[in-house]
Amino acid sequence: MHEPDVAVRLRGLTKVYRRRDGVNEALGCIDLDVPRGAFFGLLGPNGAGKSTLINILAGLVIKSAGEAVVWGYDIDTNPRLARASIGVVPQELNIDPFFTPRETLELQAGLYGVPARLRQTDEILAAVGLTDQAHVYARTLSGGMRRRLLVAKAMVHRPPVLVLDEPTAGVDVELRRQFWRYVAKLHADGTTILLTTHYLEEAERFCDRIAIIDHGRLIACESTESLVRRLDRKIVKLTIAGGLTAIPTSLQAWQTSITPLGRLAIAYQPSRMHIEEILSIVRAAGLVITDLSTEEAALEDIFLDLTAGGSGKRAQADHGRL
Ligand code: ADP
Ligand code: MG
Repeated sequence: MHEPDVAVRLRGLTKVYRRRDGVNEALGCIDLDVPRGAFFGLLGPNGAGKSTLINILAGLVIKSAGEAVVWGYDIDTNPRLARASIGVVPQELNIDPFFTPRETLELQAGLYGVPARLRQTDEILAAVGLTDQAHVYARTLSGGMRRRLLVAKAMVHRPPVLVLDEPTAGVDVELRRQFWRYVAKLHADGTTILLTTHYLEEAERFCDRIAIIDHGRLIACESTESLVRRLDRKIVKLTIAGGLTAIPTSLQAWQTSITPLGRLAIAYQPSRMHIEEILSIVRAAGLVITDLSTEEAALEDIFLDLTAGGSGKRAQADHGRL
């Protein structure tokens, strides 16, 4: 069986949009490998170029330069096999309103030349939780249902690579859970997943590798674990006997705040100082510590550090977390 080590391979991938008011380089020379079997997150702020990259793979955008190879098939020299190897759920909910979900999937299967006896229309509808809606017009489906129908549509030809562009944007919490259960199952069954999302907790939770792009440039690509470890930063939260209403002046040089539950939160760099030092400074300020917990840096911190989000947003994020 054809099983390349690299599911998606990009070399020097470049896209320049030409507009009346000039040119816009949406992707500048991206080199990227998505290993077979990965649950790969492609993150970046709005306008970073994520959808452009995905739409090139989907055949919806023509690249300006570079190469893209899907499942070992170059999209220029082997477009048919490259397209057959990938299922793409685009960011826009483009659904034909006058077809039912069942018809939509049958049509798509026909388009991809899946023979009738190999079609699994009903199984796929069940997997995405649309059995009850199989025969209603798509225009009556909710946003969450439409999104799931698009995933189903992307999977009718059983591609080894599934690409999801902001799949849970605007989907409510319960349906998001159901959606991730389905994607996790596809991944467990061997499907390589390439995902963009702006919910960083979702990326941190599901993706084993993460690439970050900003202004069309790749600025990080590594395992989620090593990316999160990269940021030398932790937060300690202390419960103070008798509660805390104001930060003692001797602690004001530190990055501190009072949590909604009245705990004292202090951000620190584990490589530079030991937690014991923090505790002694707090004690020296006359406070009695009755409990403590620490938090690791979250993907959000690294993201803000690496992208143009910069220190302003970082301070805001800290404010929310501290
Ligand atoms: P993301 O998905 O990361 O938010 P996009 O790939 O949608 O980013 O956009 C990247 C850049 O390319 C943005 O500056 C955007 O304005 C521009 N862009 C996207 N699509 C087009 C288009 N069809 N024509 C011109 N510019 C575009
Ligand atoms: Mg996008």
